[in-house]
Amino acid sequence: MKDKKKDIRALTKQQLQDFFVSEGDKSFRGTQVYEWLWNKAAHSFDDMTNISKETRQMLKDNFVINHIRVDRMQRSSDGTIKNAVKLHDTLTVESVLIPTKTRTTACVSSQVGCSLDCQFCATAKLKRMRNLNPDEIYDQVVAIDNESRLYFDRPLSNIVFMGMGEPLMNYNNVMKAVDKITSPEGLGMSPKRITISTSGVPKMIKKLADDEAKIKLAVSLHSARNEVRTTIMPFNETFPLEDLRESLEYWYSKTKSRITYEYIVWKDINDTREDAQALVKFCKYVPCKVNLIEYNPIDDGNFQQATSQATDMYQNMLERNGITVTVRRSRGKDIDAACGQLANKSA
Ligand code: SAH
Repeated sequence: MKDKKKDIRALTKQQLQDFFVSEGDKSFRGTQVYEWLWNKAAHSFDDMTNISKETRQMLKDNFVINHIRVDRMQRSSDGTIKNAVKLHDTLTVESVLIPTKTRTTACVSSQVGCSLDCQFCATAKLKRMRNLNPDEIYDQVVAIDNESRLYFDRPLSNIVFMGMGEPLMNYNNVMKAVDKITSPEGLGMSPKRITISTSGVPKMIKKLADDEAKIKLAVSLHSARNEVRTTIMPFNETFPLEDLRESLEYWYSKTKSRITYEYIVWKDINDTREDAQALVKFCKYVPCKVNLIEYNPIDDGNFQQATSQATDMYQNMLERNGITVTVRRSRGKDIDAACGQLANKSA
């Protein structure tokens, strides 16, 4: 007989309390089990030591705990750790721990594969297989928090949704996971330490603003010229820069939170002064900063990092115009853990 038991972590606290009441128990029992599932990240009903044996058996008869499993962990020479994460249906995603002197950042996935088609990204080649559930996102964070405590002797400090997938195309589950991560019953982390990175889905950026999400927003811009952006990120045809700009203005008017633009400069694609000028102009619409990120080759030879002169030209032009710019070197390249390289090669 096929196992049709429900994933207990799909239940809200209220639903769990109601379940216990319907079983003739106290609603408080629901609270206790909820704490085991979320605060204490229990993997098995038998871990729930303050719950009676009979109740644990009753839970086993009705539910399963669908937990992720870190299948393979790779450590880079620069300290970066990549986890290949097996999901309950045997699909795999990847998440990355990025250590610096003072911080540990978790880079987590939101989808198996990706629904978008950025030409320079390894994940895009996988296509979207499914959205991750809130608990699958949350578990990646817990796994990295544990690794941070184990290997770096400190808790996780920041989270970026820059792993596999487009978080705003899995909006509800990502926001449910953020709720759990920030809630005192989960990890109690400040939403200010969480960054959602998007390729730019205007409608969902507005929704994020309307929902008063306190997280930070990063946008993978890569070009401020429609004709160029559409060739490297074809969905730009559907969500052109004008719509993106309008949604970002809306986001800022509601949240007063500065946006980060992620930007790669490629040889013969966006390395001219005209490209840099377009970026400067785009940066004037909403308070922002620019992260110039290094390109990590994905082996198809269509994209090449621009010369350092071109990157310097961008940096100078942005700085002359009073725009904050950082140049970010990638981490974890030796284990294919860098931006845009997550493609389940380790699985
Ligand atoms: N879909 C979201 C989050 C995942 S990608 C987004 O697009 O923002 C995380 C970051 O890695 C994005 O800024 C993306 O543009 C960048 N990226 C993708 N492929 C890359 C590559 N090959 N080298 C460097 N960065 C890459």
